[in-house]
Amino acid sequence: MTLPKAHLHLHLTGGMRPATLVALAAEQGRRLPPDLLAPADVDATALRGWAKFQRLYDAARVLLTGPAEVQRVVREIVEDQAAAGVRWLELQVDPSSYSARLGGLHAAVECVLEALENDLGVGTGLVLAGNRTRHPSETETLARLGRQFDGVVGLGLSNDETRGDPRDFEKAFRLARDAGLIAVPHAGELRGPGSVQLTVERLGATRLGHGVRAVEDPSLLELLADLSVCCEVNPVSNVSLHVHASAADNPWRALRAAGVPVAIGADDPLLFRASLLENYAVLGASDAELADLARCSITSSTAPADLQASLLAEIDAWLAG
Ligand SMILES: [Zn+2]
Repeated sequence: MTLPKAHLHLHLTGGMRPATLVALAAEQGRRLPPDLLAPADVDATALRGWAKFQRLYDAARVLLTGPAEVQRVVREIVEDQAAAGVRWLELQVDPSSYSARLGGLHAAVECVLEALENDLGVGTGLVLAGNRTRHPSETETLARLGRQFDGVVGLGLSNDETRGDPRDFEKAFRLARDAGLIAVPHAGELRGPGSVQLTVERLGATRLGHGVRAVEDPSLLELLADLSVCCEVNPVSNVSLHVHASAADNPWRALRAAGVPVAIGADDPLLFRASLLENYAVLGASDAELADLARCSITSSTAPADLQASLLAEIDAWLAG
């Protein structure tokens, strides 16, 4: 039996299968950058490091030329999650990156939501991710867009964390929270505890994309634990982007010991060449620890309460069995 879990940190283009990347490039007669055919190894913590990573990401995204390509990738993502025991998926998409090719922002969200529907036993929610390097009004537009769709569960904030002050996005996240969406911005990946603190206090984050650098400040860990703010920890991504030298340096155990919920994610498996299960595997966790992490992923998700209860019971059965 596969451990039931929720996957809460996965981006659309970054979730594309490598084989699909190669197939789409061949169909379209495009040459792929050689760096895209191997696991990413980019020092995102260095000056202009993120730009190198973004170029790779964009070279993959350009292959999603229309609704058929986007829906193919989303359906394959859902199939891959089902195979990994994922019973609840929250996929992150910045619809403004696809709107020109999909007929506008509204149509882009509809296109992704339609492809997320499945009969594979994977419940789904969509997180609309604002781009922190663009004007905050664009993220406010996404907050207003999100409240028009039942399937949209949260507002994210992604891209280069060293740019875009969290305080500039207060209005966007207030709009989102007022509409019943949860706040799930990235923070604490390239920047330290100060950025995490601002993101929690000003944006009302329910979860943090990464959040691993919160470990540098014990009082911040207390705050995260008190508020049950979950860190979406992506250990292979953190090594690929030089946040940590190795997965052994990942602070997930310290976060859990402080009472901070931790949900393991894959972030961009296409670029880091590691599936969700491989991200769990590099932790070197015991069965009891794996079950604990799976429980965190469920209780930190937006899955309906009855589904959460039945998945938690299945996790107990997995551990007992
Ligand atoms: Zn991410």
